[in-house]
Amino acid sequence: MQLNPPVHRASTVLFKDTDAFLARGSQLYDGFMYGLYGTPTTRELETRIAAIEGGHRAIVVPSGLAAITHVILALCKPGDHIIITDSAYGGSRAFATSALVRLGIDVEYIPSDAGSVQAYLKPQTRLVLLESPGYYTMEIQDIAAIAAEAHAAGALVLLDNSWGFGASSMFEHGVDICCTALSKYAAGAGDLCMGSITVATEDMYRTLKAFVAGLGAGVSSDDAYLVMRGLLTLDTRLRDHAARALGLSQWLSSHPAVKEVINPARPGDRWHARFQKYFRGGNGLFSVVLHDGSLDAIRRMLDGLEVFKIGASWGSPHSLLAAAYPHGERSVDRWPKDQYILRLHIGLEKVAALKCDLDRALSRAAGIAALRVR
Ligand SMILES: *Cc1c(COP(=O)(O)O)cnc(C)c1O
Repeated sequence: MQLNPPVHRASTVLFKDTDAFLARGSQLYDGFMYGLYGTPTTRELETRIAAIEGGHRAIVVPSGLAAITHVILALCKPGDHIIITDSAYGGSRAFATSALVRLGIDVEYIPSDAGSVQAYLKPQTRLVLLESPGYYTMEIQDIAAIAAEAHAAGALVLLDNSWGFGASSMFEHGVDICCTALSKYAAGAGDLCMGSITVATEDMYRTLKAFVAGLGAGVSSDDAYLVMRGLLTLDTRLRDHAARALGLSQWLSSHPAVKEVINPARPGDRWHARFQKYFRGGNGLFSVVLHDGSLDAIRRMLDGLEVFKIGASWGSPHSLLAAAYPHGERSVDRWPKDQYILRLHIGLEKVAALKCDLDRALSRAAGIAALRVR
């Protein structure tokens, strides 16, 4: 006997006789018929993800983005209307404005801090895609209020819960489907891509499982095993990342080069009340706006980092810095022209070394003397 489940690698699955083979399609939802559609390893991961999200069942897919695109394609048809918060993940926006528009699906972006979607709901509205906190700018929607309105109008709520995974119970707030980038804290090492679709009902599970299988999307059991290994330490890692990020957020908020720290987990943050309503804790990811948010200043800051690395994605023990230009990636939210935003992922390195690296970088950006923090 062993502590952890074994890795079952399979394309071929064997059947005991002709009838079992010919009836193998009945195994799609609960059993095993072909490696692509599930192995004991991927099914076990799905069970654990559903438990963490507080949902009924989950489906794992090759990436966080695939989770979102598969759900939208499975549920929306030409002529339908879909509402998307303006600060949704860049990949989701790109998919909406290319693929969905081409398919004749009416895409409408709404303010990312929405407390209501009543004004946007139409008879054809099929789906409301929320993401809290929003990508880079970190707005939190009033998820429960929006879910109630959407349901009354016959629409479903899909939430990108990549940030809140492990520290939220979004089904309690009326969300119908949670999509999560397991590439982040679930895997926890920055070394693989995977996503999950967690649903509230068996009907929705069957609809989405059949669609995902039909598109030929599945994950390898080796990767599924790595995510299960990450889940073993998820809670402690999240707490540790969150505590470090909170400490550095406080310190950064009084740094002379910093205009604003956006970390909803921080008391006093403009999204903190909604954070408290919807999340049990934070994590290592937050954003910073500099007084000088020009590309030149951002370059001076990022080029020369010693502990932080430059890169997208997050959730590993490594500290990362990424920059974005929200002005070019929003349809209805306002963001100042020529103002870049920084996204920090606080890893598990020594906090003093992170502070020192940040202080030197901010001083380079602002053209001021370093504070020589310890
Ligand atoms: C990373 C991320 C995704 C995409 O996940 P991938 O696994 O990289 O495709 C989607 N949404 C959010 C909020 C993310 O942070």
